[in-house]
Amino acid sequence: MTEWVSLIRDVPDYPKPGVVFKDITPLLADHSAFTQVVDELGAGLAFDKVVGIEARGFILAAPVAYRAGAGFVPVRKKGKLPAQTFEANYDLEYGSATVEVHSDAFAPGERVLIVDDVLATGGTANATVELVRRAGAHVIGVSVLMELSFLSGRDRLPGLEVRSLVTV
Ligand code: AMP
Repeated sequence: MTEWVSLIRDVPDYPKPGVVFKDITPLLADHSAFTQVVDELGAGLAFDKVVGIEARGFILAAPVAYRAGAGFVPVRKKGKLPAQTFEANYDLEYGSATVEVHSDAFAPGERVLIVDDVLATGGTANATVELVRRAGAHVIGVSVLMELSFLSGRDRLPGLEVRSLVTV
């Protein structure tokens, strides 16, 4: 397994009892590990824009876009983007959440790579795919640092190339 994996820290019972939070801040603080994962998230893929999912997805998606000569587009929680948006709802364990993208974020048919830190149930990534498609662009794949396979998030992204740099 890749060396940088040890720099993702398990924080038990955060943000609530029973959840093991995957804390990527030690990895981000290590230049060598950070550059390696940024390279691996986008390697060999062709895309025009990279979508980062708020908030930790921003930190990874922006350098992936910069490295590839692509643009960066933020998908944010409801109420944070200033101009006209599309929105998508998804279910959480308790209740639901809404994410938004600017409706003019993409040119028609642009190729989009979606980036986030952790793929858990897949609800967030699935809602993001829906947003990108509604905004007229084409999702070429979803790249994440870590996939929690016991939550089967991949099953909610049928037909898409889902790249996880490490699976637990
Ligand atoms: P989900 O929609 O269930 O796939 O959850 C994915 C989103 O929640 C991502 O944006 C992650 O940053 C965050 N997330 C979910 N579970 C964890 C976890 N165990 N550790 C860190 N982040 C998580």
